[in-house]
Amino acid sequence: MRCVQKFKSTLTKTSVLVNRSPTVEELQQAKNILIRIAQRESFGREIDCLARRQPIPKNSKLVKITPIIDDKGLLRAKGRLENAPIDFDAKHTIVVDSKSRFGQSLVGHYHTQLAHGPVDYVYNEIRQRYLVVGGKSAVKKFSQSCLADQVLL
Ligand SMILES: [Zn+2]
Repeated sequence: MRCVQKFKSTLTKTSVLVNRSPTVEELQQAKNILIRIAQRESFGREIDCLARRQPIPKNSKLVKITPIIDDKGLLRAKGRLENAPIDFDAKHTIVVDSKSRFGQSLVGHYHTQLAHGPVDYVYNEIRQRYLVVGGKSAVKKFSQSCLADQVLL
């Protein structure tokens, strides 16, 4: 709930009142808030454990990755290539549950932006920035239910 209030507060203080388009930074902040809400809903137990510096539950969906919380409070998969010359977002991808609304929106967004492309292509593009738990089957399911795909094929 605190995240939602902060989101509303951010909107009120900025673009809505001054009647201008939000800046890139404001959009990124809003996106981070939405991600944190989605992550809290899907991985609240894991986030609490990480905050207390305790191991995550053995029956967690995240047990096979090394989850971390970044300085913005986002849950990320710790990358194996710590010294690789790639940016932080690509190295430590944001963890999202495919069953969350954010995860579903993410899959739909990439599917559409990538011109309703093949499942592997869409999934690999998402994977550059996000670790979507159950992501590949979510991309496949979305593609199979996409009306545009059925018309185009
Ligand atoms: Zn499609």
